[in-house]
This record gives sequence, C-alpha cells and structure tokens, in this order.
Amino acid sequence: MLVSAKEMLTKAKEGHYAVGQFNINNLEWTKAILQTAQEMNSPVILGVSEGAGKYMCGYKTIVGMVNGMIEGLGITVPVALHLDHGSYEGALKCIEAGFSSVMFDGSHYPIEENIEKTKELVRITGELGLSLEAEVGSIGGEEDGVVGAGECADPEECKMIADLGVTMLAAGIGNIHGKYPANWPGLSFDTLDAIQQKTGAMPLVLHGGTGIPAEMIKKAIDLGVSKINVNTECQLAFAAATREYVEAGKDLSGKGFDPRKLLAPGTEAIKATVREKIELFGSANKA
Ligand SMILES: [Zn+2]
Repeated sequence: MLVSAKEMLTKAKEGHYAVGQFNINNLEWTKAILQTAQEMNSPVILGVSEGAGKYMCGYKTIVGMVNGMIEGLGITVPVALHLDHGSYEGALKCIEAGFSSVMFDGSHYPIEENIEKTKELVRITGELGLSLEAEVGSIGGEEDGVVGAGECADPEECKMIADLGVTMLAAGIGNIHGKYPANWPGLSFDTLDAIQQKTGAMPLVLHGGTGIPAEMIKKAIDLGVSKINVNTECQLAFAAATREYVEAGKDLSGKGFDPRKLLAPGTEAIKATVREKIELFGSANKA
C-alpha cells in the first residue's frame, strides 16, 4: 500500500539520514527501484514529473502499475508515490488518481501567489492524509523545459511557506537539475543553515542530487536535508549499460533482441545506482 511521505521524512530528519526520491519512467525503472529498496529495507519515494506522467499514459496508469507491483513483488517497505514539480492542476489530478504525495512547485510565481496556492493544497492534502512538498527559490538547470540558474532561496520566504503546514520544503541552495558544470561553485551551506534555523523540524528537500560530491551530500543531511531527489543519474546509468550491450553486439546473438534481455543490463544499472544512493543517504534498514 502506498503511504504518505510524512512519517518516513519525520523519522529521517530526527535520525539524521535522508530518503531518496527516485524518478520513474517506465516499468523497468519502477521495478528496479522498488526491488532495491526492499532488498535494503529502506523507505523510498517514487517521483513522477508531469512529463513522465504523460509518457506513462496518465497518472491512473502509474497508480495501477505501482500498486500492482507492490503486491506482485511483495514490497513491504514504505513507498510514497509523489508528483515531482507539479503545477496546481497537476497536483489535483494526481490526488484524484491516487498518488500518496504531491509537490506543488510555485517557485516561479510571486511569493504571495505561491503562498495562496500552497495554502489551498495544504488544506486538500491535509484532509486526505497525503504529503505535500512546496518549493521556494527556483532550482537551476532544466525542469521539463524550464531552465533556471541555481539561485538561493530567501530563508524568510522559506519560513513563510513552511509555516503554512506543508510536509517538506524544497529550497534552492545553488543546486541544479541535470549534470553539474565543471565551474559549479558547490552548495551554499550558509543558505541551508539559515533555512534550517528558520524552519526547525521541517524536512528539507535537495533536488538535483546527480553529481553532488558525497561529502556535500553528507553535510547537507547534517544541516537538515531529509529527502534527496535522484533522476539524471539513473538515466545515465541505464543509457551507458544499454549502449555497452548493443555495442558488444549482444542484441545480434541468439535471442539477445528479446526486450527482457535487451533492457536487463540497464535495469541492473539502475539498481546499482539506487543501492549506492541508499547507502550514501543512510536510509538502509530504516523501513
Ligand atoms: Zn527538482
């Protein structure tokens, strides 16, 4: 059964570790992440962007697939199904379809409008026992076609949004989506520290987890980050393993063209990436 992310993130914040959000794109992705979380006895959050939602034929298809897999694979660790960077309308659609968690990304609105819309979603998710993530200060890189610059959020604005009663808060601290450029100055721990001081027990979310050095991840967790989003890294691992299989000519030998064989190395590569992240984030055996 899907659960809200509230309990797992409250425990993570108290226990000084982080729960990974791994974005899904299809059946192989979902299966690899669920199986790895189960093997490592870790709570897990499955992230779905609006673009991935369309790709997978709508939110209801995803809810059906994930619920079916939880039953079929005998998954017993806590699993939250979460909309990533949702619009207000997208959040409502996911709630209706049966998601257990949603993110409303109002970071591109003026703060007053972000507050108004977030407030309404706090009310709706609260009534249904779902978790809600809000965002302050846009996170750089490309997010479904929108390119931001990696700004740092205003700690006062973070407090205003946190006080509305959201479950977790994503705040820009110089992090970006996708691959980090060679001249990236790193995370702004001063900003993170100031946000954590203002928001207290609120679990903080670090987006753009791909390519942030392990030491920075650990420091961010020490400073109150309890959820870390990983997307690009699984994509890179899947693509590299698939490329290797094809370049070795394995699809041309025997039944190597069978999709169950063709997609197997990529699926294993996602598992290895997820395993590595769960270890780094410290959520193994915290289910
Ligand atoms: Zn993000």
